[in-house]
Amino acid sequence: MENCSFKIDGRSCTAEKGLNLIEAAKRNGIFIPTLCHFKHLNPLGTCRVCTVKINGRAIAGCTVHVADDMDIEVNTPELLDTRKAILEMMFVEGNHFCPSCEKSGDCQMQNLGYETGIKYTRFPHLFIDRITDARPERIVVNQNRCIKCMRCVEEVKTFDGYKVFNFTNKGNKTIVAIDYEQESKLSELQAAHAMQICPTGSILVKGKSFSKPFGDRQFDIIPEENIVPLNGIKKQRATTKKKIVATTSLAGCFGCHMSMLDVDLGILDLFEVIEFNKSPLTDIKNFTKHCDIGLVEGGCCNTHNIEVLREFRKNCDILISVGECAIWGGLPAMRNTFPLEECLKESYLESMTSEENETTIPNHEDIPKILNNVYPNHEIVKIDLHIPGCPPDANHIWNVVKNLLFKEEYSIMHPKFKYD
Ligand code: SF4
Ligand code: SF4
Repeated sequence: MENCSFKIDGRSCTAEKGLNLIEAAKRNGIFIPTLCHFKHLNPLGTCRVCTVKINGRAIAGCTVHVADDMDIEVNTPELLDTRKAILEMMFVEGNHFCPSCEKSGDCQMQNLGYETGIKYTRFPHLFIDRITDARPERIVVNQNRCIKCMRCVEEVKTFDGYKVFNFTNKGNKTIVAIDYEQESKLSELQAAHAMQICPTGSILVKGKSFSKPFGDRQFDIIPEENIVPLNGIKKQRATTKKKIVATTSLAGCFGCHMSMLDVDLGILDLFEVIEFNKSPLTDIKNFTKHCDIGLVEGGCCNTHNIEVLREFRKNCDILISVGECAIWGGLPAMRNTFPLEECLKESYLESMTSEENETTIPNHEDIPKILNNVYPNHEIVKIDLHIPGCPPDANHIWNVVKNLLFKEEYSIMHPKFKYD
């Protein structure tokens, strides 16, 4: 096969003429991320994550065949940001609750989120109500996580060559439709292949989705060298005036606070340099001093959360959203895809623990009013920083605090941003 020469980000490259750019770049040691391109499939060009520029024109990289004298831009600041924005749009358009997702740790989209450094999204989450279809024989399709990449439509076929999936509807209403009759003909292996080629957790095989435990999954590995221990601050800071930190938990599970305590004996070092004010860690209920930093776990699901958050904004110089629930609603925001009345009915009248013929939904002036949606904190007050993760690791949280208070240098590698 005839070779050709081209340039990627100014670097001279060679590959077989006509080879797909994603593959050609890979052969030259350059990684172009994509969520729809898959080995032998014809270029789909659906996800646009592989957007590059050829001779100055933006185009989906997977649809390009390399030729002589091409001048290709891949990792310019503009393109890196474009890629990140495309991924952010995918996250807000679907309902991606990674900590409760069966594919977490094995999910290509989640991993690209880490790779591109997404900590929060510049777009609001849409929380569209979508179904999870468990009617097929072997698989479950969760439309909340589908990014319409088309891999399953092109790749999943029965032994007779019939397609199992197809797109239906148009625009924002497009979903993957399942041909139930054909699906029932899939072998166990074919069903497993469908789950594997789906770059998200949209296609799952019944009874197989937790076969690999968290920690052993494809993108789970955290190299030891990336773990930055919290130590050594005692000696350096013992003489400086103590800084004041407050913490609170709004609509969260207290997991972020548990994570803060995971610093173990490091907490003794922390006490040398910071003092806690209002916080569940001290059980101080009201602010008694103005604080340097406020750490807020959880978003706002009721009027009391909003009150507390505003109080934190007033009393803290720097306000930080800690963890996914604070950043965009997280797991409590799963209810945003249902009307509030339905959620209340389900919780108080029709839950497994409800009394028979229960008719009362608690409602009293002393009980905070539940909001129609769970809101991320930055939609209520100005938030200065976000610490992503579910929960973020203890060293991550305290290294951010140390960095802000004492200008201590640190860096956090992407595998540290964990959501499972
Ligand atoms: S792990 Fe699940 S919820 Fe998270 S991005 Fe992947 S498909 Fe979406
Ligand atoms: S179900 Fe999965 S493979 Fe199919 S279009 Fe959606 S994201 Fe792509």
